[in-house]
Amino acid sequence: MLSDVQKSIVMYVFTQPEGHLIGNHTYSHIQLTKTNRERFREELIRTNEILKEITGEEVQYVRPPYGSWDKAFEKELNMFPVLWNVDTLDT
Ligand SMILES: [Zn+2]
Repeated sequence: MLSDVQKSIVMYVFTQPEGHLIGNHTYSHIQLTKTNRERFREELIRTNEILKEITGEEVQYVRPPYGSWDKAFEKELNMFPVLWNVDTLDT
């Protein structure tokens, strides 16, 4: 679980003007194309639950690690990818 410091960082970001763009980046930063689809889905859900617990709101955005995304998740989970610049180096 998150520490109080981590929770306060989430709340800080969430209350900024662009806070609604808070995005799920998976729990353990897994790459969809290199993992089991079910596991990736579970990570999205788990991370959403944590973020919802802190902010009280449903998370609708996901920033898929390495930009790997499966469009079927958009219908399944009602989540939409926010893809940054393709050249961004993900870590
Ligand atoms: Zn990343």
